[in-house]
Amino acid sequence: MEWTEEAEAAIRKVPFFVRAKVRARVEAEAAAAGHHQVTLQEVEDSRRRFVSGMSREVKGYQVDGCFAAGGCPNRIGDGSRLLARIEAVLQEADLLSFLKSTVDGPLKFHHEFRVSLAECPNSCSQVQIKDIGILAASTPRITDIPCSGCGACVEACPDDAIRLDDSPSPRIDSSLCMRCGRCIAACPTGTLAQGETGYRIQLGGKLGRHPRLARELPGIYSEDQIIEIVRTCLALYKEKSRGGRRFADVLDDATFEGLARRFAPAT
Ligand code: SF4
Ligand code: SF4
Ligand code: SF4
Repeated sequence: MEWTEEAEAAIRKVPFFVRAKVRARVEAEAAAAGHHQVTLQEVEDSRRRFVSGMSREVKGYQVDGCFAAGGCPNRIGDGSRLLARIEAVLQEADLLSFLKSTVDGPLKFHHEFRVSLAECPNSCSQVQIKDIGILAASTPRITDIPCSGCGACVEACPDDAIRLDDSPSPRIDSSLCMRCGRCIAACPTGTLAQGETGYRIQLGGKLGRHPRLARELPGIYSEDQIIEIVRTCLALYKEKSRGGRRFADVLDDATFEGLARRFAPAT
């Protein structure tokens, strides 16, 4: 649908991570009203409807993926199936009924439980400030194939995690490596190959008056393990949260350490 310059300028003020969603909403509402062009009036009407109808629109959870996933060259695999499975788990948890029974007054969007998945460590979907943030991971493995010393992996690594030095094969500092897999794609010889793949998971991030970054469980997990962790976190949240307290507020150190032990990678 065509947008006027003023309408485009207004939508550009919306934070980038929700802009695509807001744009789609404005267009759907404009189309439903029989308009073929989005003007500033449509944007403002949409915003007014959104604010006045907020409590009716709350569904208990929000789940987001990469806004550019399908077309993004950085993505590691396809997280859409996992995202759909997570949404099914969130629906099954009936968080809307839970919030209605534990929060006094009208529900607001900030009460909703938020899960986000990023298909690479760039984290465009802001996993660090969500109740549960999931990141696709691709770990490099050093094979026996001789290294040519070309340096392509060093150049490809945004995190300065690879050293060539004088050694016959590259050395990877796992404390710096973000598991993005770029070095694997860059290596022309096969010295670097695909190692462990799956997902990292971070818990208990939030914004608001007392913002907090999510903390990461120590492992790379399969889809089934991620689903199990999400279920466990939802059960904990429903057991401990009252009055709209966020997961970050109920995830104290002892609870987090318990989860880290329970889901520690097998050695
Ligand atoms: S998180 Fe990575 S894959 Fe997703 S949109 Fe951003 S850069 Fe692309
Ligand atoms: S996976 Fe990414 S962060 Fe890790 S060494 Fe390779 S390029 Fe660097
Ligand atoms: S890209 Fe591959 S061949 Fe080139 S330096 Fe790195 S490991 Fe060696």
